[in-house]
Amino acid sequence: MPKMSFIKSAVKMKDFPVSPLKEVALAGRSNAGKSSLINVWAGGKVAKVSQSPGKTRLLNFFSMGDSYIIVDMPGYGYASRGGDELKTWRKMIEGYLTQRPQLAGLVLLMDMARDWTRDEELMAQFMMKNDLPVVIGLTKSDKFSKNDIKKAIERIKQQSRLEDVFAVSSQTKSGCAELEEFVYRAWIK
Ligand code: GDP
Repeated sequence: MPKMSFIKSAVKMKDFPVSPLKEVALAGRSNAGKSSLINVWAGGKVAKVSQSPGKTRLLNFFSMGDSYIIVDMPGYGYASRGGDELKTWRKMIEGYLTQRPQLAGLVLLMDMARDWTRDEELMAQFMMKNDLPVVIGLTKSDKFSKNDIKKAIERIKQQSRLEDVFAVSSQTKSGCAELEEFVYRAWIK
């Protein structure tokens, strides 16, 4: 796996890194386990685990060796809350996912215990606008038996109508390298 390292944080398009490399967006509801997975991929602590939900408004850019860039998006879960927070979040996420020419795909992280919701649907739809692919990573698989993992993958495939669903655990590192390898082979190479 290539070495993942932090490049910069940015809010506005004009501050995004200038690079010829493709980008892969990484998103998930707050508490899905996004920071933990980033830390596994980085082989050390580069992302804060368990920031208070809703705080992050930034896009964090990480390089994957010199082959591509991972863009860590703010944790979501505002669709049900509504109001200004939803507007701000939506504007930024939609802007990035629909107007970034080098964007190659989206990794959507979900706690394996949860169901597909309107929030995930919204993100997937932003990607569909430009025919860009989405892969789902079902997190915290260490909490489940092999059989329940299989069932969860099938359930989410049905709910999302997406084909590519992986089980990962940042605790045991199971599936983490495989998910990264999928992204690289399918979207970058
Ligand atoms: P984020 O909000 O999406 O960045 O999620 P975090 O990485 O901060 O994780 C949220 C919570 O889930 C923390 O308490 C983590 O310790 C826990 N967590 C994250 N990944 C795993 C995992 O693979 N297995 C288990 N059992 N817990 C996890």
